Amino acid sequence: MSSVCAAYLLTHQRVKRNDEANVSLVSKDSTGAGARVPNAASAQPGAVPRDPAAAAQQAAPAPAFTVRKAAVKRTFAAAAQSMGVDAGTTAMLTRVFHDELDLSRDLKPGDQLSAVFDNSATDGNTSDTASKDGVASADAAGEPLAVRIVHGATTHEVFLHKDLQGKPFYYLKDGTSAGPAFERYPLDFTRVSSEFSLRRFDPVVHRWQSHDGVDLAAPVGTPVRATARGVIRFIGHQTGYGKVVMIQNPPPYSTTFAHLSRFAKGLRHGSHVKRNQVIGYVGTTGWATGPHLHYEVHVNNVPQDPLKVELPQKTALRADELQRFEARVAQLTALL
Ligand SMILES: [Zn+2]
Repeated sequence: MSSVCAAYLLTHQRVKRNDEANVSLVSKDSTGAGARVPNAASAQPGAVPRDPAAAAQQAAPAPAFTVRKAAVKRTFAAAAQSMGVDAGTTAMLTRVFHDELDLSRDLKPGDQLSAVFDNSATDGNTSDTASKDGVASADAAGEPLAVRIVHGATTHEVFLHKDLQGKPFYYLKDGTSAGPAFERYPLDFTRVSSEFSLRRFDPVVHRWQSHDGVDLAAPVGTPVRATARGVIRFIGHQTGYGKVVMIQNPPPYSTTFAHLSRFAKGLRHGSHVKRNQVIGYVGTTGWATGPHLHYEVHVNNVPQDPLKVELPQKTALRADELQRFEARVAQLTALL
């Protein structure tokens, strides 16, 4: 093995990682309540009449959807829960939006949330039959079919789609999955110069050691990019690692980038970084005998093989699902 790597020597003094959540789910600042949807989509084909007076008459069916709106006063979670979204779904939505905006930081008071709920679900009807207009039905009270965040001049929307097993996922309008995505590789590298290993005999120090990451050889100065959105938990110099950046990504992930020659300008502890943002440049700082990036991926603070670990990826709906999805998106967008 041609390169000596910091992590062989640091296993006994691994840095304790902070796994704090990015968004508080405990909050008292309840915001504006929702309203029963009026006539918004009565012209939609397949939609049932939505006139409250008509709905009150026994002959007319109840409205299919409820639209609720809330202004953000302090947190996304509080606003969502004021609309009747349960805590579990609120946490899921927080993850879902996490690749586009950081709900704990980016939302400002006055930003608007709106969500469409399936009345057959929110009224507690647990029928498992598919509803007649093709809208995912009935088995998940409090789980919105569509959510829109109006943040300043930008709008973010996600739409619920259930897989064949009935498991809920949120997608963007174009049918690609919403939510955090991970890049597999943080840089263009020439070769893997040392693989991840749980336990190996190190020929330099003549001891059994683990290698908590993977070494990706590349010329000095090659840009190193964050593999997912996150917050910088450490940026600076450590024995062995040299110049190192540690990022808390969406739970349960965190990542470490070591032996850098320098950091990207303006980054410091607490900085938020986006996926693919340049955070530093390949070097040989610390205990590295040749230029490479030592890259670690931790899941629940346990190092995993960065080349093999399961990572959240962007997925897209199949063509047959997409057609049905797009029809529903058109219907729900009109309501939001
Ligand atoms: Zn290494």
